[in-house]
Amino acid sequence: MELPPEVLERRAQRAGLDGMPSRLARGERLTPADALALYRSDDLALLGLLANGVRERLHGNLAYYNVNIHINYTNWCNKFCDFCAFQRRPKDAGAYCMTPEQIHDELKQANPQATEVHMVAGVWPALPYQYYLDICRAAKAARPDIHVKAFTMVEVDQIVKSAGKPVADVLDDLRAAGLDSMPGGGAEVFSERVRQDLYPLKMGAARWMELARAIHRHGFRTNCTMLYGMTETLEERVEHLRLLRELQDETGGFQTYIPLAFHPANTGLDHLPYPSAPERLRSIAVGRLFLDNVPHVKAYWIMLGIPVAQLALGMGADDLDGTVSQERIYHDAGADTPQSMTRAQLHQLIREVGRVPAERDTLYRVLRRFEGGDPLEDLQAAAPLPPPLRVAAPADLPAGARSVG
Ligand code: SF4
Repeated sequence: MELPPEVLERRAQRAGLDGMPSRLARGERLTPADALALYRSDDLALLGLLANGVRERLHGNLAYYNVNIHINYTNWCNKFCDFCAFQRRPKDAGAYCMTPEQIHDELKQANPQATEVHMVAGVWPALPYQYYLDICRAAKAARPDIHVKAFTMVEVDQIVKSAGKPVADVLDDLRAAGLDSMPGGGAEVFSERVRQDLYPLKMGAARWMELARAIHRHGFRTNCTMLYGMTETLEERVEHLRLLRELQDETGGFQTYIPLAFHPANTGLDHLPYPSAPERLRSIAVGRLFLDNVPHVKAYWIMLGIPVAQLALGMGADDLDGTVSQERIYHDAGADTPQSMTRAQLHQLIREVGRVPAERDTLYRVLRRFEGGDPLEDLQAAAPLPPPLRVAAPADLPAGARSVG
C-alpha cells in the first residue's frame, strides 16, 4: 500500500520518526539514533510500511527460499553459553558426534532436490583439524553438486586453533575440501557486558569481526545475524547493527541479515519471555531499514514461527530460508515449528501473503520463479523426508575424539 508522502510524514511525526519517510525516499542512510527511535516507536504498522518500501524497491514481489538440508554434526561443546539448550559434553545423555561417513550417508539419503547443506554445531577442541576437512569432503563426495555452507565464526575460530596455521591457510584448506560459504552465526549480540554475563567463553565482537573480514577477503560469502531477546538493551542492539553495517561497507561480504529471536525454553534463561510477535516483526523492519548495504533480510521461519515469518515478508524480509530438515539447535530450545517444510508448503505460505515464490541457490541466484501454479515435479517434491539422523555410537567417533569428556 502506498500512502501519499505528506500522510506518511504526519504519521511519522506522531510516531517519533520525524522526517524519516522523506529521508528514506531520498536514499539517505539512517543513523544509530534513527535505529533507536525505530526500536522505540510503537507504530509497528508504520515501521512495516517503511521497511516494505525498501524491500520492494530491492526485490519487488519475490520471496526467496532454498531447498536445503541441515546437519548439526555434533552437540559437543565447551562454551557453555547460558542461552543454549543444544550443548552437551560427550558423556552427557543425548550427546552425539557424527562421523564423516555418517554425514556422507545422511546426504546420500536426503532430499535429492536440495541445493545446499547447512552444517553447524558445537565446539569441542579435541576434534582434530582433519575432522573438519573430512566432513566437508564427505558432504561433497555424497553430493558433488551441493553447496556446502558450514561453520559459524565460533567454529571457524576453533578450527583455526586446531590447525595451528594462519587463517588464510585454513580457509584455503577448507575450500579445497569443499566448503563453499559460511553461515556467519555466533555473533549473538555484540555487547561485552552481555557476553561477560551470559557467554564469557565465547569470542567477543573484535574476534568475530576479524574473522568475518578475513573470510570475506578470502572470497567467501557469509550471512550476519543478531540474537535478540536476552538481556541486551536497545542501544546494544543498535551498536551491533552499526558494527555489521560498518564491516559490510568495507567488505561487502554479507548476503543476508538474519535477526534471531531467542528461545528461552530449556536454557539457563528460561525465566525470560520469548520475544513477542510485534518485537519479532520490529526486528525484521529495523534490520531492513538500517542495514542499507546488506541485500537480503531473512525471516528464518524456524525461529520466528510460521505466521510471523509470513507477515515479515510484508515488513522488510524477502527470504524465508529453506525447506530445512532435522534442525536441532532451536528445537532443543523449544521451537515448536516443524522440523522441515516441503517446497509446496513454502510456496503456499508465500502465496498466502501475496508474494511470488522464487527458489534461489545459496548465493541468491534465482533458479526458478513460480508465478503461476506449481508444475507436477514440484508437487512430487512434497514427498516425505527421510528418517531422522543416526547419531554416532561411542565406538564410531572420529579419531582423536574418544579421549575427551
Ligand atoms: S551456542 Fe554454540 S557455542 Fe554456545 S554452548 Fe551452544 S553450541 Fe556451544
